Amino acid sequence: MSETKGTLYLVPTPIGNLEDMTYRAVRVLQEVHTIAAEDTRHSGLLLKHFDIKKPLISYHEHNKEAKEEPLLALLLAGHDVALISDAGMPAISDPGAELVQAAIEAGLIVVPLPGPNAALTALIASGLDTREFTFLGFLPKKSSHRQALLERVASYTGTLLFYEAPHRLQASLQELYKYLGNRSIVVGRELTKKFETFVRTDLASLQQAEDWLTIKGEFVLVVGGAVPDETRPDTATTLSATDYVSAVTMLMEEGISKKEAIREIAKRTGVSRRDVYNAVEMALRD
Ligand code: SAM
Repeated sequence: MSETKGTLYLVPTPIGNLEDMTYRAVRVLQEVHTIAAEDTRHSGLLLKHFDIKKPLISYHEHNKEAKEEPLLALLLAGHDVALISDAGMPAISDPGAELVQAAIEAGLIVVPLPGPNAALTALIASGLDTREFTFLGFLPKKSSHRQALLERVASYTGTLLFYEAPHRLQASLQELYKYLGNRSIVVGRELTKKFETFVRTDLASLQQAEDWLTIKGEFVLVVGGAVPDETRPDTATTLSATDYVSAVTMLMEEGISKKEAIREIAKRTGVSRRDVYNAVEMALRD
């Protein structure tokens, strides 16, 4: 066995636009001994595009336990291995976390490369709060688990990020509304691709909108956080002008500027910034 152990590289790949492959990602994939890929046929196309010819080992949700040992054996024998998934960052709603844990336990060096990720790409263009957020990936398959998760995060004041498959989108939007109440939501669709779209609205409005919900594609849901208890109106569905004004006033008393407080309350309640602004101006005039 080699004295020097190999390195496990975690290599993000484009989520739709091949130009998002980094120079470093290409170089690392060209230099490693073996590439572990979620779907070797799918990744074969990407690798061909960048003229990368390396042995591929399939590593996916259903064989990851069995493939751990041969991959660790390669690394322990001194060979570098790169892990890629179908798109974006490996180990984010994709296989990889277990291999990383096993590599760390085996005393191997794990080197992550920065790169494409659908959740963060949607977040930064959402216009919602980016200071504090939590990534929840796909909602659980079991309805009782979905309910438990959504109830657990309902009072979280940071932005919530979800992945969703097109056939589950409408049902998920209904459940988000049911358990979180009305909130701002930004649906990021087909990010980095030709038909990239952002729908910036609130959960209540989406309950009726069916036209674009039938559209196919890949989606990230970016959902506004809960209004903190002390500024939360009684219920999200019975917001009145007085509610916005008291919520804005409370934030201003905490030292936040009027403009920022209006923006924050609009974001958190799904009410337009103009409506909150008008209500506040009216109240201040009285
Ligand atoms: N590892 C990937 C990452 O870092 O973003 C996520 C893989 S997960 C299996 C696939 C899900 O990510 C899709 O169902 C969709 O919710 C989201 N996604 C991936 N690419 C996307 C894109 N181009 N636009 C919108 N959402 C995308």
